[in-house]
Amino acid sequence: MTGANFLLTDGPSDLKIVIDCGLFQGDRAFDEKNREPFPYDPKTIDYLFITHAHLDHVGRIPKLVKDGFRGVIYSTAPTKEIAEIALLDSLNLFRKENGEDVEPFFNKDNLNLAMTLWQTVEYHETVNLKEGLRVTLKDAGHILGSTMYEFARGDHRLVFTGDLGNSPSPLLRDTEILTNTNYLVMESVYGDRNHEDRSQRRNILEDTIEDTMRSGGTLMIPAFSIERTQEILFEIENMMEESRIPLAPVFLDSPMGIEVTAVYKKYSKFLNDEVRAEIEQGGDKIFHFPQLHETMSTDESKAIFQANPKKIILAGSGMSTGGRIIHHEKNYLSDPKSTLLLVGYQQVGSLGRMLQEGARTVKILGEEIPIRAKIVSIHGYSAHKDSDHLLQFVDSTKDTIKKVFVAMGEPKSAMFLAQRLRDYLGINAKCPEAGETDEIEL
Ligand SMILES: [Zn+2]
Repeated sequence: MTGANFLLTDGPSDLKIVIDCGLFQGDRAFDEKNREPFPYDPKTIDYLFITHAHLDHVGRIPKLVKDGFRGVIYSTAPTKEIAEIALLDSLNLFRKENGEDVEPFFNKDNLNLAMTLWQTVEYHETVNLKEGLRVTLKDAGHILGSTMYEFARGDHRLVFTGDLGNSPSPLLRDTEILTNTNYLVMESVYGDRNHEDRSQRRNILEDTIEDTMRSGGTLMIPAFSIERTQEILFEIENMMEESRIPLAPVFLDSPMGIEVTAVYKKYSKFLNDEVRAEIEQGGDKIFHFPQLHETMSTDESKAIFQANPKKIILAGSGMSTGGRIIHHEKNYLSDPKSTLLLVGYQQVGSLGRMLQEGARTVKILGEEIPIRAKIVSIHGYSAHKDSDHLLQFVDSTKDTIKKVFVAMGEPKSAMFLAQRLRDYLGINAKCPEAGETDEIEL
């Protein structure tokens, strides 16, 4: 499900190409998996193509370099910049959790060397590799800079999707439609289920802000640093501008969230037409409104508690498993005027999930906290296509498709989607096992 990593070996050119080099994510057992040697010799790899900057797609890049990779890394510019932020963050997090005694599986030098091998390309740009093999970038609409890679020779086409966006998104362009693809290696995170209705999500956000501000409490929003934080900030910015909610200070209390938001600002040309039109009208401003305070340092973060309780705080981690949000939760979850707003998936066992399921008390930083704050969940914020939309995505190219490889999802999601592709579209679809090899004609 995590640790995306595909090897494409091209006969005519003898090229060895890797697509994504992700981290295995989960409990501690995964740390061992990330340390294992790659099932191929990194020294022999010519190219590494990166679909997007989530850690399960970029987390082992420095290890690939450590193990001898010296080829060229390609991605869009925002992917490169967000990946560097995410990789540094993962290194810091490792240090925090393990102290100085345990060596992480890569170091800062490996990361720096990876960055020097990394070149950026634009959407729709074609890179000619060798012996007629070429690769073109297409917008996946998942997070800023996310890309599908179309490898082609003559008119044979193979596409690696990476993760596919839940279009339409408030900020991004829609996932590009494929029409002449022959082979597809696609994600299936939500292969077996559909998202809840999302037409209400903006209303719930608006109502929750209004209610909490009216009662004079604090609104806490735990959010992932990439994409979700920017989506919520963008919605709040618009609502304040249109006077749909009361003006109140908004604290972006996440160093990584602040850094990633800066990349979104820098690469606003990657955002959808509507947002870009809005930026142009507003004098080139996005994520930049008088109420927004970016609190980078720990001291600034601590000072938020001293500010008037009528405020909004966005902080990581998204499932309250760590990060600055838990300090705010410790301060405000016992306050009946305050609200915790959950805008993302909460994994079983996480503090966020316990709160979502109505826990009466929780233990935070060694202290038993009675829950008197309101807990509100908004569903429908997802960065992935659901089952119906994954099916629709393949349907547009079903006339040319020869085979679909369903990967990057839990086995039951992947198998369910493959079955749907066979039953509904009559397509040859399979779920490859890790380490499995297939031969195709390109
Ligand atoms: Zn992703």
